[in-house]
Amino acid sequence: MIQEKLILSPVRRVSPSRYTAMRNCLLREAWTAAGNEPLLPPSPVAELGTVIHELLEAAGKGNLENGADDKIQRMWLDLVVLAEKRMAVSAVRRHQVPLSRSIPDYEVRRIRACRRAAEVAAFAVRDHGGKARHGPEHTGLEIWVESPNGQVGGYIDLVTKKRDGIVLSDYKSGSVMLPGKRAGPEIVRQAYKEQLILYAALYQIKCGVWPVRLELVPLHGVAVVIAYDEGEARRLLTEAVAFLRDANQRIADVMIGCRKLTTLASPSPDNCKHCLFRPGCHAYWEARSQNDRVPWPADVRGVICEMTRLRNGKVCMRVAMEQVTDQSFASIRSLTNNGIRHPLLQTAHQGSKIDVYGLMPNYRSKDYSETRDTTIILKHER
Ligand code: SF4
Repeated sequence: MIQEKLILSPVRRVSPSRYTAMRNCLLREAWTAAGNEPLLPPSPVAELGTVIHELLEAAGKGNLENGADDKIQRMWLDLVVLAEKRMAVSAVRRHQVPLSRSIPDYEVRRIRACRRAAEVAAFAVRDHGGKARHGPEHTGLEIWVESPNGQVGGYIDLVTKKRDGIVLSDYKSGSVMLPGKRAGPEIVRQAYKEQLILYAALYQIKCGVWPVRLELVPLHGVAVVIAYDEGEARRLLTEAVAFLRDANQRIADVMIGCRKLTTLASPSPDNCKHCLFRPGCHAYWEARSQNDRVPWPADVRGVICEMTRLRNGKVCMRVAMEQVTDQSFASIRSLTNNGIRHPLLQTAHQGSKIDVYGLMPNYRSKDYSETRDTTIILKHER
């Protein structure tokens, strides 16, 4: 069983960028902090986000020669090639290579990332001796801040000294606003807001100065300013320290066997939809079985009761689902019958226990079809 193979250990430090996620589901963050490899492949967009972050970091370290266009383009290509090499060695990720084909707006993201990198590089230009130029003390890129006991800490992307005071900025490769259409002004993602407010409190501890402004900087468009007050920042930091203490007590209780692992989990459609530990999370599957009226991720777990390999290179199957109350079968259409795309599908047969993750539901026909994120795991892998 996969869950039993996942290691659990106390969380040494909570990063402001993960604090909200940790409150949402402690189990996912504890498994991640313990160094467990994800059980599902990260999306190509997440991989590209890492590339963008590395590009901005290189720009911030003054490695892009004042933002020269050819230098930035070369660095982008090098980073993408490296990422694709990493992906190509994984049986469940090689179909996502090249990223330019698996991400529909790859080109838009590339152009925006390179433009932002040029701005950062111009800020971080090196001096005549070749060293990255330093601004006033405690300003610049990648500034480390932490609480006195080190339990909350992380790097601030950029600290600048403006005429009216210190400004903290954090670069984001995705949208900084909540998705969906709603009346009124757009709402900033809570996790990003709390991240910056925690940075403000930690910066004050390090330097004795409260920032005058906190900014989220998307790849495209203007920075979004996050309003905060000092009392709120202090309170949030106190809460984060207390949360980590309580979380580690709960983790320790699980490790000595006086609390169940599932009590660390908070399964919900929102928490679980991007979680890469779904195959190993009993709490997730249990919650799905108890309430199938909410929009859980389109995953199917069960036993193959019919399977047809079509002449067009596709596979259709009918799966008798486990743990579902009012629908006992799922039909999955058009899985690619190819050893590179789905290595485990080659050994699947009628009677195999199977998990299929990342499907696309068709609400009219009540069946599922493949997406670029679809991943198959057979029973002996669970
Ligand atoms: S699947 Fe859901 S409940 Fe389980 S660890 Fe992931 S986020 Fe938490």
